[in-house]
Amino acid sequence: MKRTHNPNKCKIHRSYTVEEVALLLEVHKRTVRNWIIKGLTVCDDKRPLLILGTDLRLFLQQQRQENKRKCKPSELYCLKCREPRLPDQNTLEFIEETNTKGRVIAACSVCNSRMNKYFKLENITSIQSDIAVILPLQQKHIG
Ligand SMILES: [Zn+2]
Repeated sequence: MKRTHNPNKCKIHRSYTVEEVALLLEVHKRTVRNWIIKGLTVCDDKRPLLILGTDLRLFLQQQRQENKRKCKPSELYCLKCREPRLPDQNTLEFIEETNTKGRVIAACSVCNSRMNKYFKLENITSIQSDIAVILPLQQKHIG
């Protein structure tokens, strides 16, 4: 079974280093770094990396929800609907964030709020073919 972490353990008015998050939630530092790759927001690129309590809490809540409601490859998780949703194909954007990490941004096809999905750049071809299912032509603009 996948472990979930209690989002209420983190205080929203402080920020944490990777080590502090690891201690707080009793996980390995590597786990925290994986969370950052998966989309946990850090304050900036300065060292040591700082994670805001609010961002950490949001991320843990989102993870909990995702464990409950698994997104299909074609879906993004909508925080507002609290459901996996199909993206509005006209709003799809694929952004290269770092050398290894990218992000899909799109509007929720139901409530129109902004959804994010992080992925490894090496997987971009499969991500694009999974997500841009309705309008394959869209990929021409993305590629
Ligand atoms: Zn929505």
